[in-house]
Amino acid sequence: MSELHDLTVAELAAKLTAREVSAVETARHFLARGAAHAALGAYLAVDEEATLGQARAADARLETGEQSPLLGVPIAHKDIFVTLDFPSTAGSKMLQDYRSPFDATVVSRLAAAGAVTLGKLNCDEFAMGSSNENSAYRPVRNPWDTSRVPGGSSGGSAAAVAARLTPAATGTDTGGSIRQPASFCGVTGIKPTYGRASRYGMIAFASSLDQAGPMARDAQDCALLLSAMCGPDPDRDSTSLDMPAEDFTCSLGDAIEGMRIGIPREFFGAGLAADVRAAVDGALKEYQKLGAKLVEITLPRTELSIPVYYIIAPAEASSNLSRFDGVKFGHRARQYGDLMDMYQKTRAEGFGDEVKRRIMIGTYVLSHGYYDAYYLQAQKVRRMIAADFQQAFRDCDVIAGPVAPTVAWKIGERADDPVANYLADIFTLPASLAGLPGMSVPCGFGAGGMPVGLQLIGNYFSEARLLNAAHRFQLATDFHLRVPAAGAAGGGP
Ligand code: GLN
Repeated sequence: MSELHDLTVAELAAKLTAREVSAVETARHFLARGAAHAALGAYLAVDEEATLGQARAADARLETGEQSPLLGVPIAHKDIFVTLDFPSTAGSKMLQDYRSPFDATVVSRLAAAGAVTLGKLNCDEFAMGSSNENSAYRPVRNPWDTSRVPGGSSGGSAAAVAARLTPAATGTDTGGSIRQPASFCGVTGIKPTYGRASRYGMIAFASSLDQAGPMARDAQDCALLLSAMCGPDPDRDSTSLDMPAEDFTCSLGDAIEGMRIGIPREFFGAGLAADVRAAVDGALKEYQKLGAKLVEITLPRTELSIPVYYIIAPAEASSNLSRFDGVKFGHRARQYGDLMDMYQKTRAEGFGDEVKRRIMIGTYVLSHGYYDAYYLQAQKVRRMIAADFQQAFRDCDVIAGPVAPTVAWKIGERADDPVANYLADIFTLPASLAGLPGMSVPCGFGAGGMPVGLQLIGNYFSEARLLNAAHRFQLATDFHLRVPAAGAAGGGP
C-alpha cells in the first residue's frame, strides 16, 4: 500500500470519503513528515492544535456522509495569505508574529470546501524574488538537490509539494511565482486569469498582477483546488471577476487532437539553456504524438516585458507597502526621535534589501518628471504585449514554451545580482502583464538531474482547457510521478 504522502489529492480524498483513513490521522502523518524534513526550510509556521482542530471538524463533516472533493485533505498556504489560525508574515521581519483578524478569501473558500491547513509556507519577502533567498527567515532548499534554490517566490510551496510534505499548496504569481518554482521543483502549478481568484487577504505586492493559484503534483489536483479557490468576491475585491465559480475538472480527459499549440519564437532564442530546450522540445514532440499541431507564432515584445514589469510591479509595490509604517501594521522601531524618524527606522529595520530596492525604484518611476517617461510608457507597452497575445491566439489555441531559461541554480550563486534574477523571469512575465492564465507542467530533467517545466499559456478564462492539455500530457508521461530524494520513502514517516 502506498504511504499517505504518496497519494494525490484526488486519491486521498477518495480514501477519506470511504473512511479508510481519518482527516486527523492524515493531518498527523503530514505534520510528522513536515517536522522530519524541517531542514528544507519550507514551513514558516505550524500549529499542531490548530491543524488538528480543523481536521476534527472535517472528520465530523465526513461522518455525516458529506462528499466534497477536498474534505479532510491537508494543504498548506503560502505565507502571503493571511490566516486567523496561524501567523502571517509575507516572509518579512516587518510582519514577524503578525496575526490577522480574518482569513483571506482563498483560505476561507478552501476551508469551506473542507481542506485542512498544515501550516504556512516560506516565500520571498512580500513575494519579491525568484529563488526564495529573499525570505527574511531562511532560504528554502530544493528537494531535488538541497544545495539549489527551489525558485520563488512560492518556493516553500513548491518544495513542500515536491518533498511530499503536503499533497498541495497555495501560491501566488505576480510575474511567475507559481510557475517558476513549480518548474524548478518538478510540480504542477497554475496561475489563473487575473481576477479569477479574490485578492482579499493576499498581502499585496503589485495589485494589477497578483493572482492566487494552486500547486500540486498533477493537473487533476490543480483543477480540484482551483475550482474551490476561484469565484467572485464583489464586496472585498473589486477586481475579482463577476463570473460564477467553475468546475475546472469538467474538461479533463477531452481529446486534444487538432489542438493548435503556438510556439513563440522569442521563447527559444540564445538565452535558453540547451538542457531546458531539449526537455521542452521533447514535450512538444509528445504533444504532436497526442495529435496536437505545432504552429510558429511571434510575441515580439517578449524582451520588453522585463523593463515593463520591473517598472510597473515596483511602482505598485511602493504604494502597497506604504502601509507598513510602524503604526498601521507590524513592526515598529523601539527607539526613535520624532514621527519621521520612527517611520524611517521602522522601515529600515523591517524591510530587507530587495524590498527596499523595489520601493526606491517604484517611487522613482512614479515621481514628478519621470512618471511619463517610465510608468506611463510601461503601461502603454504593457497594453501592446497584451495585444500581441490576442494576435497570436488567432493562430493557436494554447501557447507552449519554457517556464525559465535554466534549471534551478545554486543557493548563493545569484544572491547579490538582482538583475540576473530579473532577467530569468523573461518567459513568465509576458502572460502576467497580459493577465492570462499560465501553468507549469513537469516535462523532463536537465543539468544535475534538475526538473524542467513546460509552460502552457492560454487565452483569458481557458483554465479548463489548459488543465486538460496538461492532464493529457501527464497521462502519457511520468515526469510528474518522479520523486526527489528528499521526498522518497525512508526520508521521514
Ligand atoms: N520573480 C518576480 C519578481 O521578483 C516575480 C515574483 C512574483 O511573481 N511574485 O518580482
